Amino acid sequence: MEIDKSGVPIAQSIERLMNRVLLLVFIAAFIYLAVLKYYAPQDINLWLVSPFLFLPITIYSLNRFKQFNYSKFLGLLGYNIALFLAASSESSSTGLAMHFVSCCSIAVAIFSYRERGKSIFLVCLSVLLFISVRIFSFHFLPYRNYNPELEKIFFVIHILCVAIVSAYSFYTVVGVNYKAQQNMRSKQAIIETQNQELRKANQELDKFVYSASHDLRAPLTSIKGLVNLMEMDDLVARDEYVPKIKGQISKMETFMRDVVDYSRNSRQDVKLEEIDLFVMVNDIVKSLSFFDGAHAIVFEVNIKNDQLITSDEYRLGVILNNLISNSIKYANFKSDPFVKISYSENGNRNCITIEDNGIGIAEAHLPKIFDMFYRASTVSKGSGLGLYIAVESAQKLNYKINVSSKLNEGTTFIIEIPSAK
Ligand code: ADP
Repeated sequence: MEIDKSGVPIAQSIERLMNRVLLLVFIAAFIYLAVLKYYAPQDINLWLVSPFLFLPITIYSLNRFKQFNYSKFLGLLGYNIALFLAASSESSSTGLAMHFVSCCSIAVAIFSYRERGKSIFLVCLSVLLFISVRIFSFHFLPYRNYNPELEKIFFVIHILCVAIVSAYSFYTVVGVNYKAQQNMRSKQAIIETQNQELRKANQELDKFVYSASHDLRAPLTSIKGLVNLMEMDDLVARDEYVPKIKGQISKMETFMRDVVDYSRNSRQDVKLEEIDLFVMVNDIVKSLSFFDGAHAIVFEVNIKNDQLITSDEYRLGVILNNLISNSIKYANFKSDPFVKISYSENGNRNCITIEDNGIGIAEAHLPKIFDMFYRASTVSKGSGLGLYIAVESAQKLNYKINVSSKLNEGTTFIIEIPSAK
Protein backbone atom coordinates (compact mmCIF):
# COMPACT_ATOMS: atom_id res chain seq x y z
CA MET A 1 0.00 0.00 0.00
CA GLU A 2 1.29 3.45 -0.92
CA ILE A 3 1.74 5.81 1.96
CA ASP A 4 2.18 9.51 1.45
CA LYS A 5 4.58 11.77 3.34
CA SER A 6 1.95 12.89 5.85
CA GLY A 7 1.33 9.27 6.83
CA VAL A 8 -2.40 9.67 6.07
CA PRO A 9 -3.15 5.94 5.73
CA ILE A 10 -1.80 5.32 9.26
CA ALA A 11 -4.14 7.99 10.66
CA GLN A 12 -6.94 6.44 8.63
CA SER A 13 -6.33 2.99 10.20
CA ILE A 14 -6.63 4.50 13.68
CA GLU A 15 -9.73 6.48 12.75
CA ARG A 16 -11.24 3.28 11.31
CA LEU A 17 -10.46 1.39 14.54
CA MET A 18 -12.10 4.13 16.61
CA ASN A 19 -15.22 4.25 14.45
CA ARG A 20 -15.65 0.48 14.53
CA VAL A 21 -15.15 0.26 18.29
CA LEU A 22 -17.68 3.05 18.75
CA LEU A 23 -20.15 1.17 16.57
CA LEU A 24 -19.55 -1.98 18.60
CA VAL A 25 -20.16 -0.15 21.90
CA PHE A 26 -23.34 1.30 20.44
CA ILE A 27 -24.58 -2.11 19.24
CA ALA A 28 -23.55 -3.79 22.51
CA ALA A 29 -25.60 -1.23 24.48
CA PHE A 30 -28.63 -2.06 22.37
CA ILE A 31 -28.07 -5.81 22.75
CA TYR A 32 -27.81 -5.27 26.51
CA LEU A 33 -31.16 -3.46 26.49
CA ALA A 34 -32.76 -6.12 24.30
CA VAL A 35 -31.56 -8.95 26.54
CA LEU A 36 -32.81 -7.14 29.64
CA LYS A 37 -36.16 -6.42 28.03
CA TYR A 38 -36.54 -10.12 27.27
CA TYR A 39 -35.27 -11.61 30.56
CA ALA A 40 -35.70 -8.90 33.21
CA PRO A 41 -37.63 -5.85 31.97
CA GLN A 42 -37.91 -4.57 35.55
CA ASP A 43 -34.07 -4.13 35.64
CA ILE A 44 -33.87 -1.82 32.63
CA ASN A 45 -32.09 1.32 33.72
CA LEU A 46 -31.77 3.84 30.89
CA TRP A 47 -29.51 6.11 32.96
CA LEU A 48 -27.01 3.29 33.14
CA VAL A 49 -27.04 2.61 29.43
CA SER A 50 -27.24 6.22 28.24
CA PRO A 51 -23.45 6.98 28.58
CA PHE A 52 -22.73 3.97 26.35
CA LEU A 53 -25.11 5.38 23.74
CA PHE A 54 -24.11 9.04 23.97
CA LEU A 55 -20.35 8.54 24.27
CA PRO A 56 -20.04 6.91 20.81
CA ILE A 57 -22.21 9.64 19.26
CA THR A 58 -20.15 12.43 20.89
CA ILE A 59 -16.81 10.89 19.93
CA TYR A 60 -18.00 10.21 16.38
CA SER A 61 -19.13 13.85 16.06
CA LEU A 62 -15.75 15.11 17.32
CA ASN A 63 -14.05 12.85 14.76
CA ARG A 64 -16.22 14.26 11.99
CA PHE A 65 -14.84 17.71 12.89
CA LYS A 66 -11.31 16.28 12.82
CA GLN A 67 -10.85 16.77 16.59
CA PHE A 68 -9.07 13.41 16.90
CA ASN A 69 -6.81 14.43 19.76
CA TYR A 70 -9.70 15.45 22.01
CA SER A 71 -11.97 12.62 20.93
CA LYS A 72 -9.35 9.93 21.55
CA PHE A 73 -8.43 11.06 25.04
CA LEU A 74 -11.79 12.30 26.30
CA GLY A 75 -13.60 9.34 24.74
CA LEU A 76 -11.44 6.76 26.51
CA LEU A 77 -11.52 8.70 29.76
CA GLY A 78 -15.33 8.91 29.64
CA TYR A 79 -15.59 5.25 28.69
CA ASN A 80 -13.39 4.23 31.66
CA ILE A 81 -15.50 6.26 34.08
CA ALA A 82 -18.83 4.98 32.69
CA LEU A 83 -17.48 1.44 32.82
CA PHE A 84 -16.34 1.88 36.40
CA LEU A 85 -19.74 3.21 37.50
CA ALA A 86 -21.57 0.37 35.73
CA ALA A 87 -19.20 -2.47 36.64
CA SER A 88 -18.91 -1.54 40.33
CA SER A 89 -22.67 -1.69 40.77
CA GLU A 90 -23.19 -5.25 39.54
CA SER A 91 -21.79 -8.71 40.21
CA SER A 92 -18.33 -9.44 38.77
CA SER A 93 -19.85 -12.63 37.23
CA THR A 94 -21.34 -10.56 34.39
CA GLY A 95 -17.79 -9.90 33.18
CA LEU A 96 -18.49 -6.20 32.52
CA ALA A 97 -15.19 -5.27 34.20
CA MET A 98 -13.32 -7.21 31.48
CA HIS A 99 -13.95 -4.23 29.21
CA PHE A 100 -11.09 -2.50 31.03
CA VAL A 101 -8.88 -4.88 29.01
CA SER A 102 -10.44 -3.45 25.82
CA CYS A 103 -9.77 0.06 27.18
CA CYS A 104 -6.10 -0.84 27.67
CA SER A 105 -5.70 -2.33 24.19
CA ILE A 106 -7.42 0.65 22.54
CA ALA A 107 -5.25 3.08 24.56
CA VAL A 108 -2.14 1.32 23.25
CA ALA A 109 -3.40 1.20 19.65
CA ILE A 110 -4.75 4.70 19.05
CA PHE A 111 -1.95 6.85 20.46
CA SER A 112 1.27 7.39 18.58
CA TYR A 113 4.67 7.05 20.26
CA ARG A 114 4.78 10.83 20.64
CA GLU A 115 1.51 10.67 22.62
CA ARG A 116 2.71 7.78 24.79
CA GLY A 117 2.12 9.85 27.96
CA LYS A 118 -1.64 9.83 27.35
CA SER A 119 -1.53 6.15 26.46
CA ILE A 120 0.32 5.20 29.67
CA PHE A 121 -2.01 7.36 31.76
CA LEU A 122 -5.13 5.70 30.32
CA VAL A 123 -3.69 2.17 30.67
CA CYS A 124 -2.84 2.86 34.34
CA LEU A 125 -6.30 4.34 34.89
CA SER A 126 -8.00 1.25 33.41
CA VAL A 127 -5.86 -1.10 35.53
CA LEU A 128 -6.56 0.92 38.70
CA LEU A 129 -10.30 1.04 38.04
CA PHE A 130 -10.35 -2.71 37.28
CA ILE A 131 -8.57 -3.47 40.57
CA SER A 132 -10.96 -1.14 42.46
CA VAL A 133 -13.99 -2.90 40.97
CA ARG A 134 -12.61 -6.32 41.90
CA ILE A 135 -11.29 -5.48 45.38
CA PHE A 136 -13.53 -2.81 46.84
CA SER A 137 -17.26 -3.18 47.19
CA PHE A 138 -18.31 0.47 47.07
CA HIS A 139 -20.64 1.57 44.28
CA PHE A 140 -22.05 4.93 43.26
CA LEU A 141 -25.10 3.57 41.44
CA PRO A 142 -27.85 1.34 42.92
CA TYR A 143 -26.64 -2.27 42.95
CA ARG A 144 -28.21 -4.58 40.32
CA ASN A 145 -28.79 -8.24 41.00
CA TYR A 146 -29.25 -10.34 37.88
CA ASN A 147 -30.33 -13.95 37.92
CA PRO A 148 -27.51 -16.47 37.19
CA GLU A 149 -28.82 -17.24 33.68
CA LEU A 150 -28.75 -13.55 32.75
CA GLU A 151 -25.27 -13.21 34.22
CA LYS A 152 -24.08 -16.02 31.96
CA ILE A 153 -25.60 -14.34 28.88
CA PHE A 154 -23.98 -11.03 29.80
CA PHE A 155 -20.68 -12.78 30.41
CA VAL A 156 -20.75 -14.30 26.91
CA ILE A 157 -21.66 -10.96 25.32
CA HIS A 158 -18.92 -9.12 27.22
CA ILE A 159 -16.21 -11.66 26.54
CA LEU A 160 -17.10 -11.64 22.83
CA CYS A 161 -16.91 -7.84 22.70
CA VAL A 162 -13.60 -7.80 24.60
CA ALA A 163 -12.14 -10.44 22.29
CA ILE A 164 -13.22 -8.56 19.16
CA VAL A 165 -11.98 -5.17 20.38
CA SER A 166 -8.65 -6.51 21.67
CA ALA A 167 -7.97 -8.55 18.53
CA TYR A 168 -8.88 -5.62 16.30
CA SER A 169 -6.68 -3.23 18.32
CA PHE A 170 -3.80 -5.67 18.07
CA TYR A 171 -4.39 -6.04 14.33
CA THR A 172 -4.39 -2.23 13.98
CA VAL A 173 -1.08 -1.93 15.86
CA VAL A 174 0.48 -4.58 13.63
CA GLY A 175 -1.00 -2.91 10.52
CA VAL A 176 0.23 0.54 11.52
CA ASN A 177 3.67 -0.89 12.19
CA TYR A 178 3.71 -2.59 8.80
CA LYS A 179 2.60 0.59 7.05
CA ALA A 180 5.24 2.62 8.87
CA GLN A 181 7.89 0.13 7.71
CA GLN A 182 6.59 0.29 4.13
CA ASN A 183 6.66 4.05 4.35
CA MET A 184 10.25 3.99 5.54
CA ARG A 185 11.28 1.50 2.85
CA SER A 186 9.76 3.57 0.05
CA LYS A 187 11.45 6.71 1.43
CA GLN A 188 14.74 4.82 1.63
CA ALA A 189 14.34 3.74 -2.01
CA ILE A 190 13.71 7.35 -3.05
CA ILE A 191 16.77 8.54 -1.10
CA GLU A 192 18.88 5.78 -2.66
CA THR A 193 17.86 6.78 -6.20
CA GLN A 194 18.48 10.44 -5.38
CA ASN A 195 21.91 9.51 -4.00
CA GLN A 196 22.75 7.59 -7.14
CA GLU A 197 21.68 10.55 -9.27
CA LEU A 198 23.75 12.85 -7.09
CA ARG A 199 26.79 10.58 -7.36
CA LYS A 200 26.40 10.44 -11.16
CA ALA A 201 26.01 14.23 -11.33
CA ASN A 202 29.11 14.71 -9.16
CA GLN A 203 31.20 12.35 -11.27
CA GLU A 204 30.02 14.08 -14.44
CA LEU A 205 30.80 17.47 -12.93
CA ASP A 206 34.34 16.37 -12.01
CA LYS A 207 34.89 14.99 -15.47
CA PHE A 208 33.33 18.03 -17.02
CA VAL A 209 35.51 20.53 -15.15
CA TYR A 210 38.64 18.52 -15.94
CA SER A 211 37.93 18.04 -19.64
CA ALA A 212 36.37 21.47 -20.15
CA SER A 213 39.41 23.27 -18.78
CA HIS A 214 41.58 21.21 -21.14
CA ASP A 215 39.30 21.75 -24.15
CA LEU A 216 39.18 25.47 -23.54
CA ARG A 217 42.89 25.85 -22.92
CA ALA A 218 44.09 23.74 -25.89
CA PRO A 219 42.77 26.03 -28.67
CA LEU A 220 43.90 29.14 -26.76
CA THR A 221 47.41 27.73 -26.43
CA SER A 222 47.43 26.93 -30.17
CA ILE A 223 46.22 30.43 -31.04
CA LYS A 224 48.88 31.96 -28.78
CA GLY A 225 51.55 29.84 -30.47
CA LEU A 226 50.33 30.77 -33.95
CA VAL A 227 50.23 34.48 -33.07
CA ASN A 228 53.85 34.22 -31.78
CA LEU A 229 54.87 32.58 -35.03
CA MET A 230 53.11 35.30 -37.01
CA GLU A 231 55.00 37.96 -35.06
CA MET A 232 58.30 36.23 -35.79
CA ASP A 233 57.47 35.73 -39.48
CA ASP A 234 56.53 39.39 -39.79
CA LEU A 235 53.12 38.57 -41.32
CA VAL A 236 54.82 36.84 -44.27
CA ALA A 237 53.13 33.52 -43.55
CA ARG A 238 49.73 35.10 -42.76
CA ASP A 239 47.85 32.88 -45.28
CA GLU A 240 49.22 29.84 -43.53
CA TYR A 241 48.43 30.92 -39.93
CA VAL A 242 45.09 32.73 -40.21
CA PRO A 243 43.07 29.62 -41.30
CA LYS A 244 44.68 27.68 -38.46
CA ILE A 245 43.69 30.35 -35.94
CA LYS A 246 40.17 30.38 -37.40
CA GLY A 247 40.03 26.61 -37.02
CA GLN A 248 40.98 26.84 -33.36
CA ILE A 249 38.44 29.59 -32.75
CA SER A 250 35.64 27.56 -34.36
CA LYS A 251 36.68 24.59 -32.19
CA MET A 252 36.15 26.79 -29.14
CA GLU A 253 32.87 28.04 -30.57
CA THR A 254 31.63 24.46 -31.06
CA PHE A 255 32.67 23.58 -27.55
CA MET A 256 30.90 26.60 -26.06
CA ARG A 257 27.76 25.75 -28.06
CA ASP A 258 27.89 22.17 -26.75
CA VAL A 259 28.18 23.42 -23.17
CA VAL A 260 25.20 25.75 -23.66
CA ASP A 261 23.16 22.91 -25.25
CA TYR A 262 24.03 20.65 -22.32
CA SER A 263 23.04 23.20 -19.71
CA ARG A 264 19.83 24.19 -21.53
CA ASN A 265 18.81 20.54 -21.88
CA SER A 266 19.22 19.87 -18.17
CA ARG A 267 17.40 23.01 -17.05
CA GLN A 268 14.73 23.80 -19.64
CA ASP A 269 11.30 22.15 -19.43
CA VAL A 270 10.18 19.99 -22.36
CA LYS A 271 7.98 22.06 -24.68
CA LEU A 272 6.02 19.87 -27.08
CA GLU A 273 4.68 21.33 -30.31
CA GLU A 274 3.93 20.28 -33.89
CA ILE A 275 7.06 20.41 -36.00
CA ASP A 276 7.42 20.12 -39.75
CA LEU A 277 10.21 17.53 -39.83
CA PHE A 278 10.89 18.03 -43.54
CA VAL A 279 11.51 21.75 -43.05
CA MET A 280 13.58 21.17 -39.90
CA VAL A 281 15.93 18.59 -41.44
CA ASN A 282 16.41 20.65 -44.62
CA ASP A 283 17.19 23.76 -42.56
CA ILE A 284 19.81 21.83 -40.57
CA VAL A 285 21.40 20.39 -43.73
CA LYS A 286 21.50 23.91 -45.22
CA SER A 287 23.08 25.40 -42.10
CA LEU A 288 25.75 22.67 -42.12
CA SER A 289 26.59 23.13 -45.79
CA PHE A 290 29.41 25.50 -44.76
CA PHE A 291 31.13 22.70 -42.83
CA ASP A 292 34.52 21.56 -44.09
CA GLY A 293 33.95 19.07 -46.93
CA ALA A 294 30.13 19.33 -46.83
CA HIS A 295 30.03 20.45 -50.48
CA ALA A 296 31.45 17.06 -51.55
CA ILE A 297 28.72 15.09 -49.77
CA VAL A 298 25.44 14.06 -51.39
CA PHE A 299 22.53 14.62 -48.99
CA GLU A 300 19.38 12.57 -49.48
CA VAL A 301 16.37 13.56 -47.39
CA ASN A 302 13.68 10.87 -47.56
CA ILE A 303 11.02 12.67 -45.58
CA LYS A 304 7.70 13.57 -47.13
CA ASN A 305 6.67 17.20 -47.47
CA ASP A 306 4.65 18.49 -44.49
CA GLN A 307 5.69 15.53 -42.32
CA LEU A 308 4.43 16.72 -38.91
CA ILE A 309 5.69 15.29 -35.65
CA THR A 310 5.05 16.39 -32.07
CA SER A 311 8.30 17.09 -30.29
CA ASP A 312 10.42 19.65 -28.49
CA GLU A 313 11.85 21.77 -31.30
CA TYR A 314 14.98 22.81 -29.45
CA ARG A 315 15.95 19.32 -28.25
CA LEU A 316 15.12 17.54 -31.51
CA GLY A 317 17.16 20.24 -33.29
CA VAL A 318 20.14 19.57 -30.99
CA ILE A 319 19.92 15.79 -31.61
CA LEU A 320 19.65 16.09 -35.39
CA ASN A 321 22.33 18.77 -35.57
CA ASN A 322 24.82 16.62 -33.69
CA LEU A 323 24.10 13.43 -35.66
CA ILE A 324 24.07 15.08 -39.10
CA SER A 325 27.16 17.19 -38.37
CA ASN A 326 28.98 14.01 -37.27
CA SER A 327 28.11 12.37 -40.61
CA ILE A 328 29.83 15.30 -42.29
CA LYS A 329 32.80 15.46 -39.89
CA TYR A 330 33.50 11.76 -40.23
CA ALA A 331 32.80 11.38 -43.96
CA ASN A 332 35.14 9.25 -46.05
CA PHE A 333 36.17 11.32 -49.04
CA LYS A 334 37.86 8.38 -50.75
CA SER A 335 34.46 6.88 -51.70
CA ASP A 336 31.51 9.00 -52.92
CA PRO A 337 30.29 10.29 -49.55
CA PHE A 338 26.57 10.43 -48.86
CA VAL A 339 24.32 11.17 -45.91
CA LYS A 340 20.79 9.77 -46.01
CA ILE A 341 18.15 11.06 -43.61
CA SER A 342 14.79 9.31 -43.57
CA TYR A 343 11.66 9.05 -41.45
CA SER A 344 9.45 5.99 -41.07
CA GLU A 345 6.29 5.30 -39.09
CA ASN A 346 6.02 1.73 -37.93
CA GLY A 347 3.15 0.95 -35.54
CA ASN A 348 4.12 2.39 -32.17
CA ARG A 349 7.73 3.03 -33.24
CA ASN A 350 8.57 6.00 -35.43
CA CYS A 351 12.17 6.36 -36.52
CA ILE A 352 14.44 9.05 -37.88
CA THR A 353 17.45 7.39 -39.52
CA ILE A 354 20.74 9.11 -40.32
CA GLU A 355 22.96 6.91 -42.43
CA ASP A 356 26.40 7.69 -43.84
CA ASN A 357 29.16 5.84 -45.66
CA GLY A 358 31.88 7.57 -43.67
CA ILE A 359 34.89 6.30 -41.79
CA GLY A 360 32.75 4.22 -39.40
CA ILE A 361 33.45 3.37 -35.77
CA ALA A 362 35.50 0.40 -34.52
CA GLU A 363 33.37 -2.14 -32.64
CA ALA A 364 35.36 -1.69 -29.43
CA HIS A 365 34.42 2.01 -29.29
CA LEU A 366 30.72 1.63 -30.06
CA PRO A 367 29.46 1.10 -26.48
CA LYS A 368 31.33 4.18 -25.26
CA ILE A 369 30.65 6.80 -27.94
CA PHE A 370 27.69 8.23 -25.99
CA ASP A 371 29.88 8.89 -22.93
CA MET A 372 30.86 12.40 -21.95
CA PHE A 373 34.02 13.65 -23.74
CA TYR A 374 34.55 10.31 -25.51
CA ARG A 375 36.32 10.47 -28.84
CA ALA A 376 36.38 7.26 -30.84
CA SER A 377 39.28 7.95 -33.17
CA THR A 378 42.35 10.08 -33.61
CA VAL A 379 40.67 11.98 -36.42
CA SER A 380 37.87 13.07 -34.07
CA LYS A 381 37.41 16.76 -34.49
CA GLY A 382 35.14 17.76 -31.69
CA SER A 383 34.95 17.86 -27.91
CA GLY A 384 33.38 14.41 -27.55
CA LEU A 385 30.27 16.02 -26.08
CA GLY A 386 27.96 15.89 -29.13
CA LEU A 387 26.59 12.36 -28.78
CA TYR A 388 26.40 12.65 -24.98
CA ILE A 389 24.20 15.74 -25.32
CA ALA A 390 22.15 14.04 -28.05
CA VAL A 391 21.37 11.10 -25.75
CA GLU A 392 20.66 13.34 -22.73
CA SER A 393 18.23 15.37 -24.87
CA ALA A 394 16.67 12.16 -26.23
CA GLN A 395 16.13 10.87 -22.69
CA LYS A 396 14.21 14.02 -21.79
CA LEU A 397 11.90 13.30 -24.72
CA ASN A 398 11.67 9.58 -23.99
CA TYR A 399 13.45 8.82 -27.25
CA LYS A 400 16.14 6.20 -27.79
CA ILE A 401 19.18 6.54 -30.03
CA ASN A 402 20.60 3.33 -31.51
CA VAL A 403 23.80 3.05 -33.48
CA SER A 404 25.25 0.50 -35.83
CA SER A 405 28.57 0.98 -37.55
CA LYS A 406 31.37 -0.77 -39.42
CA LEU A 407 34.85 0.61 -39.64
CA ASN A 408 35.55 2.03 -43.14
CA GLU A 409 31.98 1.27 -44.26
CA GLY A 410 29.73 3.73 -42.52
CA THR A 411 27.47 4.48 -39.59
CA THR A 412 23.72 4.52 -39.02
CA PHE A 413 22.02 6.30 -36.14
CA ILE A 414 18.33 5.58 -35.50
CA ILE A 415 16.28 7.89 -33.29
CA GLU A 416 13.34 5.90 -31.94
CA ILE A 417 10.33 8.07 -31.17
CA PRO A 418 7.42 6.49 -29.30
CA SER A 419 4.24 7.03 -31.27
CA ALA A 420 1.82 9.56 -29.79
CA LYS A 421 -0.96 7.02 -30.48
P1 ADP B 1 32.94 14.65 -31.27
O1 ADP B 1 32.75 16.01 -30.78
O2 ADP B 1 34.30 14.09 -31.04
O3 ADP B 1 32.44 14.45 -32.65
P2 ADP B 1 30.70 13.05 -30.45
O4 ADP B 1 30.19 12.83 -29.08
O5 ADP B 1 29.79 13.73 -31.39
O6 ADP B 1 32.06 13.80 -30.27
O7 ADP B 1 31.11 11.65 -31.03
C1 ADP B 1 31.91 10.76 -30.27
C2 ADP B 1 32.81 9.99 -31.18
O8 ADP B 1 32.04 9.07 -31.96
C3 ADP B 1 33.53 10.85 -32.19
O9 ADP B 1 34.73 11.30 -31.63
C4 ADP B 1 33.73 9.92 -33.37
O10 ADP B 1 34.94 9.22 -33.21
C5 ADP B 1 32.59 8.94 -33.27
N1 ADP B 1 31.50 9.25 -34.25
C6 ADP B 1 30.35 9.87 -34.00
N2 ADP B 1 29.57 9.92 -35.10
C7 ADP B 1 30.26 9.30 -36.07
C8 ADP B 1 29.99 9.03 -37.44
N3 ADP B 1 28.86 9.38 -38.04
N4 ADP B 1 30.94 8.35 -38.14
C9 ADP B 1 32.08 7.95 -37.55
N5 ADP B 1 32.39 8.19 -36.25
C10 ADP B 1 31.49 8.86 -35.53
